[in-house]
Amino acid sequence: MNLLLAEDDALLADALQQQLLNAGFKVEWAENGAVAEYLLRKQDFDIAILDLGLPMVDGLTVLKRVREAGRTLPILVLTALDALEHRVAGLQAGADDYLTKPFDFPELEARLHALLRRGRPAGAAQQLRGLTLDRAARRASVGAQALELSPREWTLLDLLVGERDRVVTKQQIAEAWGSDDGGSIEVYIHRLRKKLEGSGLAVRTVRGLGYLLEATASP
Ligand code: CA
Repeated sequence: MNLLLAEDDALLADALQQQLLNAGFKVEWAENGAVAEYLLRKQDFDIAILDLGLPMVDGLTVLKRVREAGRTLPILVLTALDALEHRVAGLQAGADDYLTKPFDFPELEARLHALLRRGRPAGAAQQLRGLTLDRAARRASVGAQALELSPREWTLLDLLVGERDRVVTKQQIAEAWGSDDGGSIEVYIHRLRKKLEGSGLAVRTVRGLGYLLEATASP
C-alpha cells in the first residue's frame, strides 16, 4: 500500500513513518504543503495522511486542489485544531476521515484500514469537465456517451488526463505505448480531439514540446 504522509513536524513524521512501515505501508514523506500537493497530483497513492497545519501551502488548500484535480484517493486529515469548524471545513474540502492530535498509532492504523476497506468502486472514476475516466474498467465517456477507444487512444487519454495542464512529450507518449513508434502520434491526437468534442476539454499542441490537455473557455 502506497501512502503519502504530509506532516511538517519532523519528529512526529519520523515516528509515524517507522510505525507505518512496520504496519506494511510504503511511505513517502512530504514535509510541506507544496511537496504534498505535487506528489499527490503526480503519483498514485492508495491513501494519504494530511496534516492541516503545513508550511508553504496549508493542508486545507492542498486538499481542495487535489480533489479539484480529480484525485479520489482516501485522505485522512490530521490536525492539532480540535475546533468543530475545522473539522467541518476539512470534511467539506474532501477529507474522508479526521483525527485530532495527539492520537495513538493503533487508532490511526485502524482508521487507515477502514478507509482502504471502504474502497472506492464508484470513486475510481475521474471526472474532468464533461469527461469521465474509469481507470479500473478502462472506460471513458463524454457526458452520457461512452467513447470507443483503441488501446493506444486509451493510454494516450489516460496520460493526458494524468498530466492535465502540463505538457506531455512525444517521448512520454511513445514510452506509455511501450513503442519506439512516435511517428503516428499526430494521427492519434487528431482522433482523440474529435472524440473529446463537447467535453469541455481540448488537446493543445505546444510546438516543439508536445501536447497538453486543458479546459476550453466554455464547456
Ligand atoms: Ca503541522
